[in-house]
Amino acid sequence: MKVGIVGGGFMGLVLAHEISKTNTKVKVFESDSQLGGLATHYDFGSFIWDKFYHVILPTDNHLINLINDIGLEESLQWRRSMTGYYVNKKFYSISSSKEFLLFPALNIFDKIKLAYTIFYGSKIKDRKKLEGISVRDWLVKMGGEKTYEKFWSPLLKAKLGDNHDRVSAVFIWTYIKRLFQARSSAAQKEHMGYVSGGYKTIFDSIQQLLNEKGSEAITNASIERIEPNPLGGITLHHNGGEEHFDKVIFTAPLNILEKVSSPDLFMLSNNKEAVEYLGVICMALITKEPLTPYYVLNIADKEVPFTGVIGMSSLVDLEQTDGSYITYFPKYITADHDYWCKSNEELEAIFLDGVRRLYPEYDMKAVQSVHMNKAFKVQPLQVLNYSDIIPKIKTKHSDFFVLNTSQFVNDTLNNNSVVNHVQSFMNDFKIELSSKPKTKIENTL
Ligand SMILES: Cc1cc2nc3c(=O)[nH]c(=O)nc-3n(C[C@H](O)[C@H](O)[C@H](O)COP(=O)(O)OP(=O)(O)OC[C@H]3O[C@@H](n4cnc5c(N)ncnc54)[C@H](O)[C@@H]3O)c2cc1C
Repeated sequence: MKVGIVGGGFMGLVLAHEISKTNTKVKVFESDSQLGGLATHYDFGSFIWDKFYHVILPTDNHLINLINDIGLEESLQWRRSMTGYYVNKKFYSISSSKEFLLFPALNIFDKIKLAYTIFYGSKIKDRKKLEGISVRDWLVKMGGEKTYEKFWSPLLKAKLGDNHDRVSAVFIWTYIKRLFQARSSAAQKEHMGYVSGGYKTIFDSIQQLLNEKGSEAITNASIERIEPNPLGGITLHHNGGEEHFDKVIFTAPLNILEKVSSPDLFMLSNNKEAVEYLGVICMALITKEPLTPYYVLNIADKEVPFTGVIGMSSLVDLEQTDGSYITYFPKYITADHDYWCKSNEELEAIFLDGVRRLYPEYDMKAVQSVHMNKAFKVQPLQVLNYSDIIPKIKTKHSDFFVLNTSQFVNDTLNNNSVVNHVQSFMNDFKIELSSKPKTKIENTL
């Protein structure tokens, strides 16, 4: 039995790892020159770290189990982290219950309402109830206008940009469940984790384990065509040749599926155009001096061009980044935003101007390098009644499977959910793997 996986992002690689554990040969095809997709690494000059910021929460149980399973238990580091707010041109830490109680932007009644919203939200079981109401309406109903403007709106903007008002209350429900559970399980203190060397360590480790089992993950291998093989199984076309597999699992985005896959293999219900995606433009500054003590700074200020500040070095030891500080400045936008038409130089000028506004005292001579990275499609905007418009994929061939993040309805995009998704898929797929192989053709690659 030989299984092919299209897409060498986190989903494809975790899937390959799980399949190879059953002693089945797997081959992963990644179109990019390096593995990892959205969680891939980037060369910042004197060190390598994640291209986009990633953090592990104490409640990411599926992800933590995977990290242990691939032998990286010792590399998982937990550090106390701080959350900040920028409101009325001032910075506030809300990293402990005491700081929350002292947060001057809200009075005690607002804080009680806020605490109630979080408590009530964490108890809700049925997502459907929240799908038909906008996140703004739900949060205002629960906690009032002021808590929304001063507390929730900056937090939502950091996650979703200017479109945050358009998502349903499901978004904040999943967020509350994931983030606020983390606080309680970490004894009132906010702890967050990372793996030494960043996600590259995770991908290197998975790749090595695959190789040891006679499986592999190859890069620069863009799948151009996926077809049913008349003699059984599925054929993948890439780099001018073809390879045959008993089973193929597709993990890349849906627009790619439509482009490369034979219509005999799948059926997509609902118009995918109805789903709007958020992309991200993310500047990373490498500096000699720290910029922010917070892992996340939520910003309530229309004049700042980015939607949050992520102080990676407030979490990650400096030896990981060659003694330099790394700070990310994300801006989440939809496909129609004019930032996509701007050059990196233009974007840099806009974002750096925002840094100067936010930190007027900061000596910009401490900036060692500036890096502008973009991802056009990161996650669907989970608008009202999203589960009704989400494209439903049905595969029409018993050897072809689709598994990707476009199907997440109860979750924000995160790697704990990816691992969970893969493990649920494996429960059924293990039965498929025990069936007899069908492919009988020689490969041309
Ligand atoms: C700014 C940002 C911050 C994030 N922060 C966090 C965080 O703190 N914690 C967390 O848990 N998660 C975080 N995430 C989410 C995390 O990165 C995703 O959950 C994860 O990367 C999704 O992986 P995936 O494999 O499903 O998708 P992708 O990474 O999109 O992988 C799909 C892969 O398919 C490849 N591909 C496409 N077409 C083809 C083709 N024709 N042939 C072969 N290969 C193809 C692509 O190149 C890509 O590598 C963050 C994401 C972003 C963008």
